[in-house]
Amino acid sequence: MKDFKENPYYDLFSKQESNKYNIGKSNYKERIKKLNALQIAIEKTFRKDIQEALFKDLGKPRVESEMTEIYQIVSDIKYVKKHLRLWMRKQRVSTPLSMLGASSYFIYESKGVCLIISPWNFPFNLTFGPLISAIAAGNTAIIKPSEMTPYSSALMKSIIETVFNDDEVALIEGEVEVSTALLELPFNHVFFTGSPQVGKIVMKAAAKHLASVTLELGGKSPTLVDSTANIDLAAKKIVWGKFLNCGQICVSPDYVLIDETVKSQFIEACKKWIAKYYGNHPASSHSYGRIVTNKHFKRLRAHLDNANQHGAVTEIGGISESQSRYIAPTVLSNVTDETSVMQEEIFGPLLPIVTYSSFEDAITYINSKERPLALYIYSKSKTNIDRIIKNTRAGGTCINNNIIHYANHNLPFGGVNNSGIGKSHGFYGFKAFSNERAVVRQHTFGITELLFPPYNKSKENMAK
Ligand code: NAD
Repeated sequence: MKDFKENPYYDLFSKQESNKYNIGKSNYKERIKKLNALQIAIEKTFRKDIQEALFKDLGKPRVESEMTEIYQIVSDIKYVKKHLRLWMRKQRVSTPLSMLGASSYFIYESKGVCLIISPWNFPFNLTFGPLISAIAAGNTAIIKPSEMTPYSSALMKSIIETVFNDDEVALIEGEVEVSTALLELPFNHVFFTGSPQVGKIVMKAAAKHLASVTLELGGKSPTLVDSTANIDLAAKKIVWGKFLNCGQICVSPDYVLIDETVKSQFIEACKKWIAKYYGNHPASSHSYGRIVTNKHFKRLRAHLDNANQHGAVTEIGGISESQSRYIAPTVLSNVTDETSVMQEEIFGPLLPIVTYSSFEDAITYINSKERPLALYIYSKSKTNIDRIIKNTRAGGTCINNNIIHYANHNLPFGGVNNSGIGKSHGFYGFKAFSNERAVVRQHTFGITELLFPPYNKSKENMAK
């Protein structure tokens, strides 16, 4: 067995493992104190710095930084603080008659030392979100943020060091080697947000220690628009959801699957809404972001070229500028399954449109692909909406909208199979970082004692 002492992060890990907060298990007041300190750091002390870092890393407009990062984190903390006392209570359950003389309950106890690995697309939200749940559940944590957003990662390190001692929470910057070394350690829980490919690597590493995992992954989220939908309203929302953060969102509408009779009307409506949101030159719009790195810029350009080679029609956009990593909001039609854009998660501002002629075909098409993180339907038909919910599987669904299910703390958030394992947000995040410990307390003589050995005829009869 490998000696962990050689691991560069072993000292930090064992410091967290022997933290009295971890061993003795923190109480409600201690957890609230930590959450309050984190809230002040995000909401007040570092607010401007967060906006600046996000602009440098992703060209993120200030309104989007507020809406999708700062607001999300602060409202998450407030929600957890409001409910934590209730979640931490003993959960009493009934005890069957055959166990007469005993009572039963379970508690959510902390798992211990947790590893949080996060992606770059919402660096603050997707790092502090799981951390809030980890703290609420009474754990210590080591965080490895993405190397793709260096300004955000460096700032998160400062925030963590201001709010926590390193035996409570520590952040380590770095690339894949850092993740790989951390994953060798026997963490009690690993919370990973990122691609399905890396999710498999993480799960394999966690399996060595039988560490539990939460895998928040991605994939292609279909957006179905049927002939009964309000097409203008559907385009208004899809254009917003697709081009927010330049399409670099795990629950972004990946492609539109539309009834062929309303396709042209939908494309015209997309043109109108793109112009309304970003003007006729989105490159100079203050409301439109940029692609995170050159590597991702090239990946998206290659998707566009590949689609064009396969006969796709660029209905809107298609323009790009490598220096600033700008890709215009782009809508493609005549897209076939042979294109790379229909085979991989896009994670960028390219919206392919695929048509269907019967609703049954649309369902078959969706089910021919991996189970998605999100599935959206735009329709006025209750029958069609019910058919989609009943005949497909997905991590989450919005009806006549997209993305917003992410923001409801009362709902579990996560994928299914290829798009993820386990759920997060609100109570579900608290649960992911907790062990449900079952307790039975014997008060008086237990009826089962009547069946203790030595077994005789009357006990045999009693057991029947
Ligand atoms: P990624 O999987 O490339 O990287 C995520 C993290 O894993 C980073 O910190 C990275 O350094 C680390 N990593 C990369 N390769 C690794 C390896 N071989 N071993 C160990 N760690 C490794 O993902 P990304 O590009 O940062 O993010 C995009 C992906 O994340 C998309 O698939 C998207 O759908 C998904 N995502 C999912 C959610 C969600 O909540 N479900 C949210 C955001 C993004």
